[in-house]
Amino acid sequence: MNLRSLFLNHVAQTSDAPMLIEVERAEGIYIYSPEGKRYVDLIAGVSVSNLGHNHPKIVRAVRQQVEKYMHLMVYGEYIQSPQVQFAKLLTSYLPKELSSVYFVNSGTEANEGAMKLAKRYTDRTEIVAFRHAYHGSTHGPLSIIGDESFRSNYRPLLPDVRSIRYNNFDDLNLITKRTACVVAEAIQGESGILQPKENFLQRLRKRCDEVGALLVFDEVQTGFGRTGSLFAFQKYNVQPDILTVAKAMGGGMPMGAFISSKEIMSTLTHNPVLGHITTFGGHPVSATAGLAALDALMEERLMDKVEEKENLFRKLLVHSKIKEVRGVGLILAVELGDKDLLQKFIRKGQENGILSDWFLFCSTAFRISPPLNITDKEIEEVSELILKTLNEI
Ligand code: PLP
Repeated sequence: MNLRSLFLNHVAQTSDAPMLIEVERAEGIYIYSPEGKRYVDLIAGVSVSNLGHNHPKIVRAVRQQVEKYMHLMVYGEYIQSPQVQFAKLLTSYLPKELSSVYFVNSGTEANEGAMKLAKRYTDRTEIVAFRHAYHGSTHGPLSIIGDESFRSNYRPLLPDVRSIRYNNFDDLNLITKRTACVVAEAIQGESGILQPKENFLQRLRKRCDEVGALLVFDEVQTGFGRTGSLFAFQKYNVQPDILTVAKAMGGGMPMGAFISSKEIMSTLTHNPVLGHITTFGGHPVSATAGLAALDALMEERLMDKVEEKENLFRKLLVHSKIKEVRGVGLILAVELGDKDLLQKFIRKGQENGILSDWFLFCSTAFRISPPLNITDKEIEEVSELILKTLNEI
């Protein structure tokens, strides 16, 4: 049996139409098949590979760490330099209140941790989240995601969850003194890249303060430079009480975190002790990769050019089949306005060497979230490929 048949037979599937791209290696913005076909990666593992594939600094750091030690002990017991150095560097770029990093392995776990922490700290139970938001696939985040079709067959889920409309100022009044926290994406990713209306996040912050609810920003998809700021909340100048991150955090290795103040975070240490535990959270190899990735992101000043790159995409992507380009920085959605057309684009794009996909809650737009170090020349090349593909469908 070839690898494709083995994949279909033995690797659990999540849909009946996987992309089935066989990968030999990946470098920069490109993924190569065993036959040598080259694809431009406009997905970047869904906003993971912000530094491109196979970045030498990350690879070198991982190699060195693997030779020292891999997993030693469940999270939170031993002093491991990669974790400590990474937490120190990361928090140096955050407001001083966001000083305590709880390392986990993924975005959904980061949100699980944040929700538990908010319930413990406030002694309240209600969690408010937004329609069309995505926060992960385990039971906690699944209970708060903003799309019933993904949830309904898995009920019963968490009780005391309220879903409100993103960018709707009236709905903010539904956040009350019963609310432990509001979980929000500063920019909604899987709804097809929706930005907050002017002042919406400020008003959300104000309402949380009025009723004593914690504000959690889920920056799993927007974090680590994708919007041109390290985190989107810094762009909008609204500070959360808890920040959740993952995806690009680990520089290509699995890693996530929820980050808060020392005071809030300390509630997990007692009553009961070990209020949140994880075996692999903050794995030393992932932490090393994340540290190297954050170092490289800053050293290469990649965020400085994100807006220019966005503008170049916007300038080049003009076509009668494109209805709109939404988003900010290098997290963009190209709206075709038609589901079938989009499917044709994705398939034809693969033939033409472009990897893109649609969004969980928006099936009419395709994603442009390449590595942040994509060059202007590469943007020109891939934009030409996109226009060619649109002409062919
Ligand atoms: N939150 C957001 C905003 C996401 O986009 C995602 C994944 O796409 C998640 C959470 C879940 O992350 P993970 O797949 O690592 O659990």
